[in-house]
Amino acid sequence: MEYPAVVLEALGQLPRLETVTVHNPGPDEVAVRMAASGICHTDIGYMQYARACPVLLGHEGAGVVEQVGANVTHIQPGDHVVINWQVKCNRCRWCLSGRQDLCENVQGTAAPRFFWRDEPLNIMLNAGTFCPVAIVPAMGAIPIRRDMPLEKAALLGCAVATGVGAVLYTARVQPGENVVVIGAGGVGLNIIQGARLANAGFIIAIDLNDENLGRAASVFGATHTLNSRETDPAAAVREITGGRGVEHVFEVVGLPVLMQQGINMLARGGTLTLVGAAEREAQFSFHPRRFMSMQQWRANSRRVVAHLC
Ligand SMILES: [Zn+2]
Ligand SMILES: [Zn+2]
Repeated sequence: MEYPAVVLEALGQLPRLETVTVHNPGPDEVAVRMAASGICHTDIGYMQYARACPVLLGHEGAGVVEQVGANVTHIQPGDHVVINWQVKCNRCRWCLSGRQDLCENVQGTAAPRFFWRDEPLNIMLNAGTFCPVAIVPAMGAIPIRRDMPLEKAALLGCAVATGVGAVLYTARVQPGENVVVIGAGGVGLNIIQGARLANAGFIIAIDLNDENLGRAASVFGATHTLNSRETDPAAAVREITGGRGVEHVFEVVGLPVLMQQGINMLARGGTLTLVGAAEREAQFSFHPRRFMSMQQWRANSRRVVAHLC
């Protein structure tokens, strides 16, 4: 079948709507008729850092199962599903030690299913949701209740899982710990929501956009908001916390200057968790002396984690 799909032909270009040919799913795969797909910042970032082009974009989506391969038993046509763009192998040393987030054999389809100009098309994060039909490994389609609106379910595919997951599973925020979230966009708001679920103490949202900050406080659970255009956020955080700093900072923008700012907001023994996708060549520096004296920003992958999206 042929469908219109959003294809990025080469780095630095803008994506275009192109006609692609889609083959049937293999025996361990499913075809999902997409109902909704979010635009995540990573879709935009792919214009700079996609590993392989041309590539079909989109990775945050939900839809209705259209066709299942012969070996697929957990879902059937008509089921509503969220696309999971990181299907674990459950066999590698990381999966077997409970660190599926570090899986070294993330699963895609067994063979190319999308073609453009007669050549196999790369698929962003094995999902490719910017097409009316997605072909994914069976475990890439997670069944949900049919009364869940699909345009909201789509957000579970990346923004919610990335944000809430960073709080509950990566940083493991404990009740009463104070949290700063730098960047209150789609993922940042879900970090705020996750901090609320974790019963954090102060939840301080920092952004340049008052609309984001308003939403952070009124809908998602931030206890304080700081517009960094108007105030020095590190000084404000010190003031809010009585000079102590916070146990957790989440950097959700991907800018080295904000990562450095995050370190300056940490309390003794605090943890900076990097969630934002930085540019490929970006670097940031820090004062190693503080590792020893403050035990801040521990250089251990469990503590300083790039939660990839
Ligand atoms: Zn994403
Ligand atoms: Zn694995």
